[in-house]
Amino acid sequence: MIYQGNAITVARDDGDIATLTFDARGESVNTLSGATVTELGEAVDALKAETGLKGLVLASNKEAFIVGADITEFHGFFDKGEDYLVEMNLRVHDIFNAIEDLPFPTVAAINGLALGGGCEVTLTADFRVMADSAKIGLPETQLGIVPGWGGCVRLPRLMGADNAIEWIAGGTQNRADAALKNGAVDAVVPVDELAAAAHTLIQRASRGELDVASRRAEKTGPLKLNAIEQMMVFETSKGFVAGKAGPHYPAPVEAINVIQKGAGETRERAQQIEAQSFAKLALNDVAFNLVGLFMNDQAVKKRAGSYAKQAGDVAHTAVLGAGIMGGGIAYQSASKGTPILMKDIKADAVELGLQEARKLFGKQVERNKLTAAQMAEKLTNIRPTLSYGDFDGVDLVVEAVVENPKVKGAVLAEVEGQVDDGTILTSNTSTISINRLAQNLKRPENFCGMHFFNPVHRMPLVEVIRGEATSDAAVAATVAYARAMGKTPIVVNDCPGFLVNRVLFPYFGGFSQLVEQGADFQHVDKVMEKFGWPMGPAYLLDVVGMDTAVHANEVMAEGFPERMARDSKTAIQVMYDNDRLGQKNAKGFYAYEQDKKGKPQKVSDDQVPALLSEVVQGQSTLSDEDIIARMMVPLCMETVRCLEDGIVDSPAEADMALIYGIGFPPFRGGALRYIDAMGVAEFVRLANSLADELGPLYAPTDKLRQMAQENARFYAAE
Ligand code: NAD
Repeated sequence: MIYQGNAITVARDDGDIATLTFDARGESVNTLSGATVTELGEAVDALKAETGLKGLVLASNKEAFIVGADITEFHGFFDKGEDYLVEMNLRVHDIFNAIEDLPFPTVAAINGLALGGGCEVTLTADFRVMADSAKIGLPETQLGIVPGWGGCVRLPRLMGADNAIEWIAGGTQNRADAALKNGAVDAVVPVDELAAAAHTLIQRASRGELDVASRRAEKTGPLKLNAIEQMMVFETSKGFVAGKAGPHYPAPVEAINVIQKGAGETRERAQQIEAQSFAKLALNDVAFNLVGLFMNDQAVKKRAGSYAKQAGDVAHTAVLGAGIMGGGIAYQSASKGTPILMKDIKADAVELGLQEARKLFGKQVERNKLTAAQMAEKLTNIRPTLSYGDFDGVDLVVEAVVENPKVKGAVLAEVEGQVDDGTILTSNTSTISINRLAQNLKRPENFCGMHFFNPVHRMPLVEVIRGEATSDAAVAATVAYARAMGKTPIVVNDCPGFLVNRVLFPYFGGFSQLVEQGADFQHVDKVMEKFGWPMGPAYLLDVVGMDTAVHANEVMAEGFPERMARDSKTAIQVMYDNDRLGQKNAKGFYAYEQDKKGKPQKVSDDQVPALLSEVVQGQSTLSDEDIIARMMVPLCMETVRCLEDGIVDSPAEADMALIYGIGFPPFRGGALRYIDAMGVAEFVRLANSLADELGPLYAPTDKLRQMAQENARFYAAE
């Protein structure tokens, strides 16, 4: 044994060839935590002291090679400031450079996922051999930082600046065939031939058949690009990448800057540049929030995983209603491999539902994600029907008929009579209380909400709503089914609007009040889009549909009259009264024209200001900052209330639900992270001042006031 640590061992395995194995004790995956990096330094020292070695293999004993640095340590590192971060990265560079400079050939044997720091450690080796099932990449820019352990330096030297920019700015996980084609790895083999292939590479290098010295010179010297090539590669890609990333995500463009600035430099100088840039980005709120988002996502997925573990089989399902949602649910289930019956009362509705599924599968075929034969097979997973004939043996039913409590109640009672005693029934209602719907059932314990978002195939969130009578088994089965459909389920308790719509409608309430105070709704849309929302509130209302919004508003006003009921007409009601339903009838706050692809494009409509004058009082002098506050405070306050009322269990779940369900700007981390960033005390001050003028929708709760006094946060220091 040359070295033995908790996460790393180094041993001679073939006489004069040593293997350094990553195998973190007691962990399911390898990460490059602070402690593991320290061990890596010790292991390299031990290797340097060892005599008679002819080569080194870097390997992993886990299913993944190394999934990256330990992201749970990041916030702690970020808090220590710029100098600390630069020093930290330079210390890691010293260790990685020492591997690169070992006096014998080195090979990384990439058996599984090698991401971030895990990929960077493989880049220190002279050669890389990769299992055909493995993936490799540098996803750091998705966390708002640049690769900081040599990725921006070694990858472009290995595979060319253009390929490296694509990998780094895109943050992609790349398959073995692509890695081989791009030159990131030297060979691809089946996983059980990996060790032998690595040894063969070392032996060939030792015999002089592979030129280690020139490989090292290439990796440690300047990038081979002349001035014109540099301009072409870097300036062109910056424009493209900036356009794609948008103004709120600086890391992808910064990564190109780092590669560019380091291009003509030595390894050490280029690493200095990388370290400085990493530290600068790490101190930005965007990186802090994106790292927080990653941890929240992990927490939410872990939670869902523990629910799903307790679930019975969900092998056969059914959806009632083949409309927009029912059709989408049938497609998603079929696409991910769970057979589903699709029942409607109208034959033409069933046909429309099937057509929609065919269209979506067809797009996958066009994009080469499916073959025509696979599409045909997946389509057989959807069994259209007009009767309950085949419903015995169904494990879970999703009701997605029209949003009417009487119709839903009748349909749920009817289907309960057609299925086995243990079948789980769920409703895709957007607003109707699950407890209320449960009153129609003989076995309410088998019932819960399963709230999908439109379009089902694209929106990642499913709210699973636990009613008072809902059993753990029903929640577990519904969570398991949502996961099997490739969705992220978040379990919430029952209340009008559940979590997501309960929070969204106060935001629309804020919008209505702004318009009524004379704000130009098109300007409000622009301000909120600049703030980071995928679409502004007027546009979003057009997409949701004014009929749906008015109906949901009524439900919310009935549920929370003290702050959501309005005694005067709203701007949304004005649109509805004038039959401006939004995209569905091509006129709402905007008018809609079809583009060449048949997609609705919004245009301004001169008639709208005149219609709105019915409710507009005066002209607004509000600044953009005022507009943001008037939109965001009611949304944030309702999120706080949902947490206080136990509708949602944790800040992580609340924030992820808003990001996945309504497109809350991810780089802001969610409503509660947004309050933390502003500071609870400052938020309370702002909310108080607005509540004086605009009413209880804006008022902070007593508990939040107390948090402000205690200097508390939603996310404890991480
Ligand atoms: P839709 O009008 O497009 O479809 C409803 C379908 O149900 C119609 O095809 C109708 O024929 C069918 N139907 C009516 N009675 C039936 C019965 N007894 N048995 C079987 N089928 C019956 O409506 P949608 O937009 O798909 O909405 C369905 C549900 O999903 C509603 O509860 C809605 O609130 C909810 N929802 C909608 C959205 C959205 O954006 N559209 C989002 C989330 C949730």
